[in-house]
Amino acid sequence: MKQFKEPENLAVFTCTHVMRGGDPILTISHEEDDGGWQFLCGNKEHRNKDAMIVALMEIVALDESVNEVADLPLGRRVKRETKNAKWDIMSQ
Ligand SMILES: [Zn+2]
Repeated sequence: MKQFKEPENLAVFTCTHVMRGGDPILTISHEEDDGGWQFLCGNKEHRNKDAMIVALMEIVALDESVNEVADLPLGRRVKRETKNAKWDIMSQ
């Protein structure tokens, strides 16, 4: 069950590591400029070829714990150490 206020079919950024490699989502960003969302694995380096655009509902279906940060303000980013850890809000 989605708790984001955005529509289920909203296009969001994620990475192949999450969608194809089975890596957990460890970083979520809510972009200040366009209100977009990014759901990425813990890898520091992401190149263009690693980027994927999917529907928000696909992310929620993959990992319902992203709902815990559904009300993250614009311009904020959260991180967690593992899939079962608590989200930490980063200042930027
Ligand atoms: Zn990744």
